[in-house]
Amino acid sequence: MVSSLIGKEEYVVKIQDVNKDMVGLVGGKAANLGELIAMGARVPPGFVVTSKAFNYFLRSNGIFEKVNEILSSKDDRQASADIKALIMNSSIPRDLEQAIASAYEELTSKVSREVLVAVRSSATAEDLTGASFAGQQDTYLNVRREELMMRVKMVWASLFNERAISYRRSKGIGSSSVSMGVVVQMMVNARSAGVMFTLNPANGDRNHIVIESNWGLGESVAAGKVTPDEVVIDKDTLTVIEARTSHKALKIVYDGKENKEVQLSPEEADSMSVKEEEAIELAKMAKEVEKHYGRPMDLEWAIDADLPFPENIFIVQARPETFWSKRTQETDVPQKEATARILTKGLPASPGIGAGRARVILDVSEAKDFQKGDVLVTRMTDPDWVPVMRLASALVTDEGGMTSHAAIVSRELGVPAVVGVKNGTKVIKDGQLVTVDGFSGVVYEGDTNLVPRVLSSEVPASMGVSKEALTNLYPITATKIYMNLGQPDMISRYVDLPFDGIGLMRIEFIVSEWIKYHPLYLIKTGQQSLFVDKLSQGIAMVASAIRPRPVVVRFSDFKTNEYRRLRGGEEFEVEERNPMLGWRGVSRYISAQYEEAFRLELRAVLKVRDEMGLQNVWVMYPFVRTRWELQKAMEIMEEEGLRRTPDFKVWIMAEVPSVVMLAEEFAQIVDGFSIGSNDLAQLTLGVDRDSELLANMGYYDERDEALKRAIKRLIRAAHKHGKTVSICGQAPSVYPELTEFLVREGIDSVSVNPDTVIQTRRLVASVEQKIVLDKLRSR
Ligand code: PEP
Ligand code: MG
Repeated sequence: MVSSLIGKEEYVVKIQDVNKDMVGLVGGKAANLGELIAMGARVPPGFVVTSKAFNYFLRSNGIFEKVNEILSSKDDRQASADIKALIMNSSIPRDLEQAIASAYEELTSKVSREVLVAVRSSATAEDLTGASFAGQQDTYLNVRREELMMRVKMVWASLFNERAISYRRSKGIGSSSVSMGVVVQMMVNARSAGVMFTLNPANGDRNHIVIESNWGLGESVAAGKVTPDEVVIDKDTLTVIEARTSHKALKIVYDGKENKEVQLSPEEADSMSVKEEEAIELAKMAKEVEKHYGRPMDLEWAIDADLPFPENIFIVQARPETFWSKRTQETDVPQKEATARILTKGLPASPGIGAGRARVILDVSEAKDFQKGDVLVTRMTDPDWVPVMRLASALVTDEGGMTSHAAIVSRELGVPAVVGVKNGTKVIKDGQLVTVDGFSGVVYEGDTNLVPRVLSSEVPASMGVSKEALTNLYPITATKIYMNLGQPDMISRYVDLPFDGIGLMRIEFIVSEWIKYHPLYLIKTGQQSLFVDKLSQGIAMVASAIRPRPVVVRFSDFKTNEYRRLRGGEEFEVEERNPMLGWRGVSRYISAQYEEAFRLELRAVLKVRDEMGLQNVWVMYPFVRTRWELQKAMEIMEEEGLRRTPDFKVWIMAEVPSVVMLAEEFAQIVDGFSIGSNDLAQLTLGVDRDSELLANMGYYDERDEALKRAIKRLIRAAHKHGKTVSICGQAPSVYPELTEFLVREGIDSVSVNPDTVIQTRRLVASVEQKIVLDKLRSR
């Protein structure tokens, strides 16, 4: 290693000569770049001005002593100003300046253009990780030769920012012991750039590498400013499976002063921005990086306009893929490889990876000794299982599809889940260690450390980045992005996500977990206030956390078999042959047997709105079949004192085809519709939504043309009468292409699972922009 050092005494080291054991000399950022090169990835060439060089600079100017003196006599602000001035006014020793200059010359010798560089801090010590994470050290982009020495000094000086000094004082870290490397790296003159995933972000398929690309700098792709070109590559054979050219409205370029958005010419807009050989070269590197880290990766890449292939292909950033939470988190990475044996496969119902001791439990009454972190393996879950699911690190079920209880609840709880595996309770042994991959629907033997156990939904809270900074990351959309949430306490985890309201609050969770008793049993025993109090508390917990954003509370939609399981429920519930098509939704509210219980739900809503003053609570009727039943239920609602007003909206679910057929008529008596694609798909296609058999055969698919037509028709009819349409079924959380369809059809809002809020917002923004641009062009 030493032989390839440039300059004296390891003052300057080429990035390609750096490895992970050199963190003390070059800093963490530089060490990571060196590691990427060692894996076979090409990163933009550069060098590091080492911590030794920094110390040499300080020593030769006598700065060390002065720093200590200043720190002991001045407050943080003054100390920072004085030390920074000291550094900026001192000169870099001649031999060091010479070493930096010749490294720069070598870097630029291959390129005929003027080479601009990025100058970045690379912290050397653990204690600095926190500081640099908070953005306390500087990075300068597009630095010219003549500014180079000054920028290096500025990065050094940033080690003495006021916040950095305060941080070290608060942690008891002596300022004289800190040091840093400075990375000087060629700026790629990007002809094309974008992002790349070593799994398919649309469906979690780990056999694919997906490249998203646009002309110019990668920022247009990363920030969701365009619908990028997409190339899907088979990871095994490194061949292109699919290449989709999109109409890209703009690119971002550096114009000598700043990054600028530039409109693309019609030819450029519609031509593929990455060549096949380039895509394969990128995929090759991505595969190596993934292999090295042993987990799916999210990479940023760029292709230089002036260098020959393949020297022009660069990876500029690599981080573990955290599913739909692109560009948000860097975590340490385990080095283990995925060689684990597959136990079983099913539907990837809830994203994430969970590992732990498998507990094969067939009846919830036997789950008493279930421990936090165990993996729950069972036939199918129902509301009784939710307390156990909350403890689980992952879930595997034999039965069920993507809209089953197990799928919906685990997703909301952020518990990775694979459903419909058929034989899980047979092939998985009680007590065995297993890893559940909820991205791809695979259950492995042992704890395989496959990918980070992080869910996108956890990111905002754990990043330590300010809310304002986060908000800026998310585009504003004309279509509202709502979130589905039924577990009131989960709001604290998701509250910082960029959603415009709760588009579906299923109250079944509050009933089965907080209230536990059948409402009619409570009425019979004179305890109805317990129902009203608990239900109103649960709703208020969410409504107060997110106001003024609205919460659409959906009245109960248990089926008879589920109601039976509530305490005291057997007495009040018949045994139906087909509960899915039975006494559910509005048919209960207007029946003589249940009406009193429905009134308790209404009183809870009234209490939240009137007594607690949370006027952001709206309501929604589930499983509406006919107008007459709805009208009856709405009369009961009025009797309880809940009247439609501009700030008390009444929606109905559009999930029985009759609502779509008579959409115009329904539109005249409600404020809005929300498409329940789970039930609407079931009833339009005649496919049991919980049948893993039919799901595996491809029958249960919300993208079916029949469904799309129904949706289109509903939106037209609703808009004709000035009413809104939303969607709260699972479909847009699973199929981005369906979301695109919905936005194009003019849907007013889309309500998705917490883990897809960010991704959906980005997608919707890019589709909306595309629609606007297409319209402008066709004028
Ligand atoms: C639906 O049917 O799409 C829906 C959101 O309701 P649920 O899944 O609760 O039936
Ligand atoms: Mg439904």
